[in-house]
Amino acid sequence: MRKLLILSGKGGTGKTTVASTFIALSQVRAWADCDVDAPNLHLVSGSFTSVEQRAYHDLPKAVIDPGRCTACGRCFEVCRFDAITVNETYSVDPIACEGCTFCLHVCPEQAIVMQQSKAGNLALHRRGDQLFSTATLLMGSGTTGKLVTAVKDQLKQSDAPLAILDGSPGIGCPVIASLTGTDLALMVAEPSVSGLSDLKRVVASARQLTVPVAVIINKADLNPAKCAEISTYCQEEAIPLLGTIPYDEAVVTLLNRGENLAHSPTKAGRAITEIWGRTRALLEAL
Ligand code: SF4
Ligand code: SF4
Repeated sequence: MRKLLILSGKGGTGKTTVASTFIALSQVRAWADCDVDAPNLHLVSGSFTSVEQRAYHDLPKAVIDPGRCTACGRCFEVCRFDAITVNETYSVDPIACEGCTFCLHVCPEQAIVMQQSKAGNLALHRRGDQLFSTATLLMGSGTTGKLVTAVKDQLKQSDAPLAILDGSPGIGCPVIASLTGTDLALMVAEPSVSGLSDLKRVVASARQLTVPVAVIINKADLNPAKCAEISTYCQEEAIPLLGTIPYDEAVVTLLNRGENLAHSPTKAGRAITEIWGRTRALLEAL
């Protein structure tokens, strides 16, 4: 299965709008929302006939049995993550605990055990032969990268030749996990000062992982000068610039109604349709 990942260096660039439009235009049979911190692709993916849900577990966390604890303080002394709290009794802050097990080994009373902790929820939606994988991270969990990998792994249940992945903004663990094993990363940039800077960072991340990149510019007409700067950057870096999307107020109206831009008679919809054709051609040429 080949994977096309839609990314952006920052939030709010229109990444999910592009991803959902590509999914509708391509009639792809497998897609995923890798933005586990703030998943929203399900809102524009229509209804499904079934969904399988399961809990995703993080590294086990330490838990102190107050009935055995003699308050010797050894665990407090060794915990490098300040996860042991001392009030009337000793206890572990599950958000701060990194699951290293050091406290478990130094406790003279065997008062500490490691317990599985839920870090998120995975969901696999089905509609005919279509498969949509997504997940939601729970507050305070730090395993976003592993959860993204689990989201991608669920797609292995499909025999579709292509999957479209909606990534998360930035260059953190979920982005790195999304990029791993991807055939093409399409960056959605916006023509602003931070837009170009963020684009350069995410392109550098993709290149570290030897993932081919291409760029599109959303709301391109809002800042022609910055748009030209992004175009020059792409030329200098030999990055294919697959097109620009004009700012289009009709898009806001459509999205607020929960409708997809695919086949819509909007300027932006037509631009994304053309960009999808070029993206597909680039994927085939890689
Ligand atoms: S090391 Fe064990 S006995 Fe000592 S304070 Fe910690 S939990 Fe209690
Ligand atoms: S498992 Fe490690 S991080 Fe967690 S409380 Fe024990 S020593 Fe601290």
